[in-house]
Amino acid sequence: MSIQDDTLLVSAGRDPAANHGVVNPPIYRASTILFPTLAAFKNRKQQRYTGLTYGLHGTPTTFALAQAVAEVEGGARAVVVSSGQSAISMVLTAFVKAGDHILVTDSAYEPTRVYCDVVLARFGVETTYYDPRVGAGIAALIRPNTRLIFMESPGSLTFEVQDVPAIAAAARARGVLTALDNTWGTPLYCKPFRLGVDLSIQAGTKYIAGHSDLMLGIVTTATEELYRRVRDFVSQVGDCPSPEECYLALRGLRTLGVRLRRHEQSALKIARWLADRPEVARVLYPALPDDPGHALWKRDFGGACGLFGVLLRTGSEAAVAALVDGLRWFGIGASWGGYESLVIPGYPSGSRTAVPWTEPGFLLRMHVGLEDADDLIADLAAGFQRLAAAQA
Ligand SMILES: *Cc1c(COP(=O)(O)O)cnc(C)c1O
Repeated sequence: MSIQDDTLLVSAGRDPAANHGVVNPPIYRASTILFPTLAAFKNRKQQRYTGLTYGLHGTPTTFALAQAVAEVEGGARAVVVSSGQSAISMVLTAFVKAGDHILVTDSAYEPTRVYCDVVLARFGVETTYYDPRVGAGIAALIRPNTRLIFMESPGSLTFEVQDVPAIAAAARARGVLTALDNTWGTPLYCKPFRLGVDLSIQAGTKYIAGHSDLMLGIVTTATEELYRRVRDFVSQVGDCPSPEECYLALRGLRTLGVRLRRHEQSALKIARWLADRPEVARVLYPALPDDPGHALWKRDFGGACGLFGVLLRTGSEAAVAALVDGLRWFGIGASWGGYESLVIPGYPSGSRTAVPWTEPGFLLRMHVGLEDADDLIADLAAGFQRLAAAQA
């Protein structure tokens, strides 16, 4: 019988016998790694992918986290980097050269677009943004010089679910690599390699860390060969996560299953409550049966996290501010995936280039934390009263 995810979350990347019986992999702090002989030092490059050579390339703590995430996500191996944004830029850069072309979803996390438009463009790599609902139609956008298709599903602001298997199959038929920003799905709720993806990105900062107190990124690869390409590139650029952050992320990973199920349960309750409110035009959450991405989500995901969007019918920023500013349990701040609830405004129309965002209403992005769901609903209900008063 294959090992179930909850068992993997607890056991992956741990080796108490090798660490004096200590339950958690310890924090190894290292720059220099010592070798017993001149010959061993001279030959160290041979153990570049299997052992320790220098702190920059990883320590046992980094490797423990990488192994655990790769096992849970179902990939071959993983490279840990210092932020989710770094994981994105490494994947976008490692496989391209001047004159190449990449395809990126129009629904991508804003800094992903900025990296393509500002950095890659400067080095002669052209980006075409595609409709997140393109599916197998992606084939028509692949050019002879297309190297990579970069997906994010669902989009972390607008929540369109992509037909990842269809896009991956079209890419594979043309020898094009695929990458997926799988931060929303997490290694638990979306298994990218079963869907045909080559490279998966996690902002470990979010649910893996789970406590809003660290920055980390992880690139998981479908094969050993892709792992070596990413590993080499990350070392060449010089990105290196702190072992302290890796330790904390591993600690977070152990409880990912229980946390996510609670985030999902509360988010569903609140999303349904919001969908019934007269002030709400639409809730953008693939777990809701009438969401346009629901069928794909049901097919490709094992669950939903606590992040969704809500389109308010009002156009008044001042009225929305009255709602949001007075919330007691929802913080106003970037990022998500911690134990606490958050809300921020989103302005997707400003960044779309493939398909304009025309849906009317004011978009709020909510992260439902581990507070009591009814307390959160009461907080929002009071917020809607302030919204009404501000509009009266
Ligand atoms: C936050 C986020 C990132 C970037 O992660 P950082 O660790 O904050 O750099 C990447 N992708 C998605 C979808 C995110 O939400």
